[in-house]
Amino acid sequence: MTGGALADKIIRRIRAEGPLSVAAFMAMALHDPALGYYARCRPIGAAGDFVTAPEISQVFGELLGVWCALMWERIGRPDPVVLAELGPGSGVLAADLLRAAAALPEFRRALRLHLVEASPLLRAEQQRRLEAVDPVWLARVEDLPAGPLIVVANEFLDALPIRQLVRGPRHWAERRVVLGPEDDRLAFADGAESPVIDLLIPEPLRQTAPPGAVVEICPAALAVAATLGARLQRWPGAALLVDYGYFPSALGPSLRGLRHHQPVDVLESPGTTDLSTDVDFAAFAQGARAAGAEAWGPVPQGDFLRGLGVSARLAALAARATPAARHRLESGVERLLDPTQMGNLFKAIALTSPGLAAPPGFDLPDRER
Ligand code: SAH
Repeated sequence: MTGGALADKIIRRIRAEGPLSVAAFMAMALHDPALGYYARCRPIGAAGDFVTAPEISQVFGELLGVWCALMWERIGRPDPVVLAELGPGSGVLAADLLRAAAALPEFRRALRLHLVEASPLLRAEQQRRLEAVDPVWLARVEDLPAGPLIVVANEFLDALPIRQLVRGPRHWAERRVVLGPEDDRLAFADGAESPVIDLLIPEPLRQTAPPGAVVEICPAALAVAATLGARLQRWPGAALLVDYGYFPSALGPSLRGLRHHQPVDVLESPGTTDLSTDVDFAAFAQGARAAGAEAWGPVPQGDFLRGLGVSARLAALAARATPAARHRLESGVERLLDPTQMGNLFKAIALTSPGLAAPPGFDLPDRER
């Protein structure tokens, strides 16, 4: 069932303009200025639609802060340096990160916090939490100022619109959002096969995928990779992105809807449903390399956090905590590390300026993982 004011708006657009790509549908569902999900919903946390690593444990943001400080030293301690977070959510990751960064006061003084955020509601929440730091908000990664740059992002890429391509008997076709038989609700339907669409499919999958197979490509994530890659080629810096996804490129579909922690139909009630997908880390790394950066990983989140000394950090916090707080700390970290929970599903990928050694957390030989 399709329903709601945004569904009506999408239906009117399809009547006027014809079928939408899945990416165009996602962009409206998530970012319509009046009715989109990020314009009117408070997505994160127990009362929202999904829970993220920085909401589960302060240790996550703190270790990302350690990573940023170490990378700042590696790139020659530039002052000032832009520290950017993409999709900062409630702002809790940035707050934890800055607390840990204060252990290196020169870094803390040099950094200028920039937040790339689309949602006005979340911007207001970030403002409340990070007021003391006086952050700069930007709408797009392309708007980041010139100069040395350190970037972090957790669950940002998975929120970017994807296109879905379907293998037909001869060529690939694009899956689109159309009007169903009654002309009053949204449905998926595949467009015409075309040899031109074949060109969009990652090499290894183009020939081997069986008829009916679905591949998702994310032009917006590639644009982020290209922008960051070009920046890191020109100025010293590094970026760390954590998300769930696959490596190498794989068949989908992975697009899913979530409301109040429950899976829901993607088309059912656009604007009230979180939409996300698995990230193609191989395509992201390839995009960043093509633009001139080096790409590292992805490594499983559990291995990455262990490489940054999660056990020592946990022990230090637990030693000062009450028994109840200690239990909360330990179970939170366990959830981030456990391969059957978030430890394996989530992965970290790093981009650096050319010529730098493997970043912290990416330097373990495979056999030690
Ligand atoms: N990093 C946070 C929030 C993840 S949710 C955490 O881990 O808890 C995704 C975040 O990305 C939200 O802040 C959302 O508003 C933002 N976002 C999604 N699409 C965006 C876009 N196209 N441009 C800028 N921000 C976007």
